[in-house]
Amino acid sequence: MEIRTRFAPSPTGYMHIGNLRTALYEYLIAKSEGGKFILRIEDTDQGRLVEGATDVIYNTLKMTGLQHDEGPDVGGPYGPYVQSERMGMYMDYAKELVAKGEAYYCFCTKERLDSLKESNEEGVAFAKYDRHCLGLSAEEVEAKLEAGEPFVIRQKMPDAGTTTFDDVVYGAITVENKELDDQILMKADGYPTYNFANVVDDHLMHITHVVRGSEYLSSTPKYSLLYAAFGWDCPVYVHLPAVMRDAQHKLSKRHGDKSFEDLIKEGYLVDAIMNYIALLGWAPSDNTEIFTLAELEGKFHIGGLSKSPSIFDIKKLTWMNGEYMKAMDAETFFTHAEPKLKEALGEDTQMDLKYIASLLQKRLETLNDIAPLVQSFKELPEYGTELYTHKKMKTNDEIALDSLQASVPVLEAITDWTEENIHNTILDLVAAKGVKNGIIMWPIRTALSGEPTSPGGATELALILGKEESMRRIQKGIAMLTK
Ligand code: GLU
Repeated sequence: MEIRTRFAPSPTGYMHIGNLRTALYEYLIAKSEGGKFILRIEDTDQGRLVEGATDVIYNTLKMTGLQHDEGPDVGGPYGPYVQSERMGMYMDYAKELVAKGEAYYCFCTKERLDSLKESNEEGVAFAKYDRHCLGLSAEEVEAKLEAGEPFVIRQKMPDAGTTTFDDVVYGAITVENKELDDQILMKADGYPTYNFANVVDDHLMHITHVVRGSEYLSSTPKYSLLYAAFGWDCPVYVHLPAVMRDAQHKLSKRHGDKSFEDLIKEGYLVDAIMNYIALLGWAPSDNTEIFTLAELEGKFHIGGLSKSPSIFDIKKLTWMNGEYMKAMDAETFFTHAEPKLKEALGEDTQMDLKYIASLLQKRLETLNDIAPLVQSFKELPEYGTELYTHKKMKTNDEIALDSLQASVPVLEAITDWTEENIHNTILDLVAAKGVKNGIIMWPIRTALSGEPTSPGGATELALILGKEESMRRIQKGIAMLTK
């Protein structure tokens, strides 16, 4: 049997990390077995619709490489793949259940239903429907329908006994049927509820494995009963534990937790994010931690899913992101770094961006670390002369002034401003003065950067800045130290 999973996001306008992890596991469950991964947009909650929100879904799937085999944009044999375009097809299924005695019309008014809630002694907002309309005769129902009375269609739960379903992650779960509410399948506006639509959709799309968040566990007995009522096979259920911010709280965009787009904006790499979230609730049998999506497809096994909630640890992701950047070849790293360098240094900068990138590559945790590191290339920051005093380099104001003054004529004399020529010139000066390297190099580095640390030493900074700017900064240092 071909495995078919589906990602069924509601277009909220951003990609929640928990949803992206669900998509990843759905993709992997299908792809690790040569199956199909389907995209279905669940946009029937019109109140929550956000402009451009479906594009966020398409873009995320494209960026992450979770390519769907069927979906609104790529088509497929079981469309439409947008729930709002399927609205016409549910009523007949609901009526089929009514005919089978598995569902019934309910004409209760809102006032009557509200009064049921109020009579709930515990003050719980939700109360089970009291089955007032279950007792209506076929003739009574017919008459009300003819009269045009508004109605809903409710699922008729079994009166006694239990319902059990198996979940890959949580095992067998059993509930008492008397606990189950006769939930609404079709609303008064003629549209299905989510609880009904998802079952019909999953069946019609031949979904074999329904993978979703554990918040759906409590609804699943009702879904199982619906499949049984239709005489359809139940899919394999895979409920995923929540991704947590800490031991008590779920990750939540509303409470400031980052979405996928936020992480990208903050300089995280798509591959590192995907690698990290793969580990939020799943572990490979060989305990490796770093892998590509293709490797993951080979390694993934549904049995490796865990039911303990995992905590999203930004520090771990940040570490992993740094590892990803270090491991890149220089060319690949440059494609990621270039836009950030141009953003920081200006589109038309004359600086050698490839050279700068090569200095930065091993020092970064995120791409957003680039801007602060290169800021001083663009403009010498205000700094105090105390930066010239360095214990280990054995420098102080006086020594620094002497070194900078001595460096001016020899650096000025360089005609071809190359790394090698700058380096040799500085070393010649060191030799001529008979001092330690730091005595010359630290003051030059400080004058060129105006910062206590910099991504390169004297030679690298001089090369990046060019001769004219380097000399200007050294003269500025001399002027500061002379006062
Ligand atoms: N549209 C639902 C959500 O975004 C999907 C739930 C499911 O996978 O069935 O939560």
